[in-house]
Amino acid sequence: MVDRTLVGRCGLYCGACGIYRGYKDGGKYRQRLAEFFKCPPEKVRCEGCQVLTPECWGSGCEMVKCLNAKNLQFCYECSDFEKHTCERFEKFSNEYLTDDGVDLRANLAKIKAGKADEWLKESEEKFRCPHCSQPLPTNSFRRKCYHCGVELSPKRD
Ligand SMILES: [Zn+2]
Repeated sequence: MVDRTLVGRCGLYCGACGIYRGYKDGGKYRQRLAEFFKCPPEKVRCEGCQVLTPECWGSGCEMVKCLNAKNLQFCYECSDFEKHTCERFEKFSNEYLTDDGVDLRANLAKIKAGKADEWLKESEEKFRCPHCSQPLPTNSFRRKCYHCGVELSPKRD
């Protein structure tokens, strides 16, 4: 069964989002995120873009707020997306592409083409520790696996 709740509205796979992983995996990783964001660990929580509750981190997301205000479900539906004129999306997607090798535009193209299920499956496989097979967030491929402690080399494809 593919979990559709993890289809991010900006094209991010929620299952590999740091906040989501911190919430689901807890422990030291959640603690580290809380310290980074200077908030209590309980605040590091999110159920995924498609099933946000008011307590979810995603409810405060500027992209989500923007989409809601425009009555759109995904960023690709927006005319600014086509024209590359959304500053917020351009900045956010460039950071993901450069830092984590995640291509939000390519992801959104798959979602738009009705291939969300395949994309979710392939993302689930991709964002795993090669050593212990536990799920990991996108940026942890530059560091150590917080599940088993193995050193991870930069992942690009
Ligand atoms: Zn591991």
